[in-house]
Formats: sequence, structure tokens, C-alpha cells
Amino acid sequence: MSPSAADRLSRLIRDIPDFPQPGVVFKDITPLLASPGGFAEAVNGMVEISPDDIDVVVGMEARGFIFGAPVALALGAGFVPVRKPGKLPGDTLAQSYDLEYGAETLTIHADAIADGARVLVVDDVLATGGTVGATAGLLKQLGAELVAVTVLMELTFLSGRDYLTAQGIDTVNALL
Ligand code: AMP
Repeated sequence: MSPSAADRLSRLIRDIPDFPQPGVVFKDITPLLASPGGFAEAVNGMVEISPDDIDVVVGMEARGFIFGAPVALALGAGFVPVRKPGKLPGDTLAQSYDLEYGAETLTIHADAIADGARVLVVDDVLATGGTVGATAGLLKQLGAELVAVTVLMELTFLSGRDYLTAQGIDTVNALL
């Protein structure tokens, strides 16, 4: 992506200080989503930096759904949601983790992904890496292969990439 395109997208992401709690600068992507050109450019850019030999895209509730589903369609892959507890109707696997603000548990359907499937994990923001790390834990439980992680934006000062590298997750692609 050209520097001018990246700059255009960055200007569509709004900083909201002290949300959802004091000290956190929340990256609000709703202006980007509301911009037809901006949303398309973001999704196209995320597809371009992702591997194309993927069976399944996994997106995490909630903003991972927004980017994961169109990226899956563009890659000719299926989409599997990772959700908060109590939302998925079938048998689930669970993984807990610490968030930049609070703690969380993620779940996935126990039969969602075939053994050995090639998986791309998609989310909007990579912060501490806890969410992606927990998702990787779910994929490990399922026997799926985590090929790469693609995010719209990386908050480099939170070192999520280093956290994931320490867990053996080396291929992290960030558009911004
Ligand atoms: P983390 O697990 O710390 O990498 O946080 C990533 C998840 O939390 C993503 O699903 C983001 O949507 C959300 N998130 C964390 N920090 C922020 C932030 N500063 N602005 C927007 N979303 C965030």
C-alpha cells in the first residue's frame, strides 16, 4: 500500500482517549467503515498482505467479523467466528487471556475447522496480542495450522508482535 493510501486510511481511524477506561486510547474504526472507499481500500489492502492459499479465515468477535468475512470471500476461504462465551450454540472449546483492558475468554465450535486446515486469523487491531494468542490456542486445540495473522492496525508500543513471536507465531501482517 502506498504511503498516501495508508495516510488516507489512518485519517479515517479516530482516536478516542480514555475509552473504555482511563489511559486507553481507543482506535475507533467506525469512520473508516462508514466510508465506502475507505472500507474497500482497507479490505483490499488486508487481502494483498495475506497469503492466498488459505482454507479458513478466523475472525474474533466483534470487529474481527467485519474484516474477516470480506477477506475470506476475497481469498476463496470459509469464515469461522471466534466468540465470547455463551454465544455459540454447539459444543465449544474455550481459552482465557488478559486484555489491554480487563480479561476475556474466547470460544470456538469444537467441530469448526478440519484437522490440518490452513488458517488465517484476522482482526482490526493488534494491541498486546492476547486476543490473537488465545485464538491461536483454540486453533491448536483443534489441530488446525495457523499460517498467518492479518490486522488492519498494529499498536507497536504494546509489543503484541513480540508476544506472538514468543509463542511461535511469526507471520503477522499489519496494514497500518
Ligand atoms: P489485544 O488482545 O491486547 O491484542 O487487543 C486486541 C483486541 O482488542 C482487538 O480485538 C481490538 O479490537 C481490541 N483493542 C485492544 N486495544 C484496542 C485499542 N486501543 N483500540 C481499539 N481496539 C482495541
